[in-house]
Amino acid sequence: MSMEIIFLGTAGSVPTKTRNVSSIVVRYQGDYIFVDVGEGTQRQAMLSGVGLRKNMKIFITHMHGDHVLGLIPMLQTMCMLRRTEPLQIYGPRGIRRFITENMRMLNIRPTYPLVINYLSDGRVFDFGEYVVKVARNEHDRYSYALCIEEKPRPGRFDPEKAERDGIPKHLWRLLKQGRTVTLEDGRVVDYRRYVSPPLRGRKVVISGDTRPCRRIVSLARDADVLIHDATFASDRAERGVETGHSTAEEAAIVAREANVKVLILTHFSARYENVDRLVREARRIFPATFAAEDFMRVEVPPSRRPIRTW
Ligand code: ZN
Repeated sequence: MSMEIIFLGTAGSVPTKTRNVSSIVVRYQGDYIFVDVGEGTQRQAMLSGVGLRKNMKIFITHMHGDHVLGLIPMLQTMCMLRRTEPLQIYGPRGIRRFITENMRMLNIRPTYPLVINYLSDGRVFDFGEYVVKVARNEHDRYSYALCIEEKPRPGRFDPEKAERDGIPKHLWRLLKQGRTVTLEDGRVVDYRRYVSPPLRGRKVVISGDTRPCRRIVSLARDADVLIHDATFASDRAERGVETGHSTAEEAAIVAREANVKVLILTHFSARYENVDRLVREARRIFPATFAAEDFMRVEVPPSRRPIRTW
């Protein structure tokens, strides 16, 4: 099962010639999880091949225009396409009013049920094979970071060993499920002899617009990928404090403290035509740092690390 991150917009506040405003898609298990949909996101989605999907969910980290103004056009297009499947939207306070009032004013009649869910600190949405965890960040009163985390994958069953030990085949399923079984001859068989420990799930964390903060460090603990606000370079650190954003260096400190594998910087101020300087500054603190680009795709490989040993 592949897990892929697709960047649709990597600029902060305003689009530039090479970057659109915020939007990231995480594709996993046939689901397309959109995180923020700035103006023009549907066209970016089209150009990237992501498109508008039946199995899409839309998360909005906070109600600032550059993260949410692309939502109404997407909802309208899906009406024109006569979508019938329910669409799940997850957002902060104000999201319902924003959608309903805009749709009413523009006379957009939904052809599909719109299901609106509210984000709040500590909330966990369970989607079967994976969860989305929510933590408040430090930007606006209702602004959130998100963690998309695959559930632990079951360890590997060793059929040869089971065969050798004469475990009847009809009991293999139970062992794979982590059950201890008793054979007809009275032998008690511990599944751990035949199944390796479960493997850690993959974990991608998206900070949203934010100052560096402890809650993101905990949310991102040991993550495969942390995507963090890096609006400014060190020369504009005071602007970061004023506007509730981070510098590339601050993002790198969060990545180091959270012990993530890879840090991807995004939400760059339009003043940096070239973001090499931001990457350089971050790499001095956290070497595995990269800059997001529009249409960049990042595959997150499955982890081979067991959760525990037995
Ligand atoms: Zn913002």
